[in-house]
Amino acid sequence: MKNLIQEAKNIIDKRYKKNCFTVGCAVKTKSGKIYTGTCINSQKLDICSEWVTIGKAFSEGNYNIEMVATVKKHKDGTYEIYPPCALCRELYITYCPKAKIIISEKQIKKASDLLPHAWQKKR
Ligand SMILES: [Zn+2]
Repeated sequence: MKNLIQEAKNIIDKRYKKNCFTVGCAVKTKSGKIYTGTCINSQKLDICSEWVTIGKAFSEGNYNIEMVATVKKHKDGTYEIYPPCALCRELYITYCPKAKIIISEKQIKKASDLLPHAWQKKR
């Protein structure tokens, strides 16, 4: 858990720019591989770091997401673990409902527990 949080902090520090790339995500797959990514902000649209990072894993054929950590870097240089937004909860329920999501320093939740009674598209 701490390692994944640190990986999320590391990717922010590598890519950080003022008001840009301020949220980082680290994902661990069942194979043990770790992927990292940052949010992408534009004038009209913000893409969460979770979508970027899970997209990287999926693009490389790793669909079994085991754990996710997302961290925000504030302007004062401090970090905060970010619980997922509603769109990210939809992402998890669709693609990795059993994944463990780090929502605070001491709390991990199963992804499916973060969006109870979710509508799901039949596949
Ligand atoms: Zn989100």
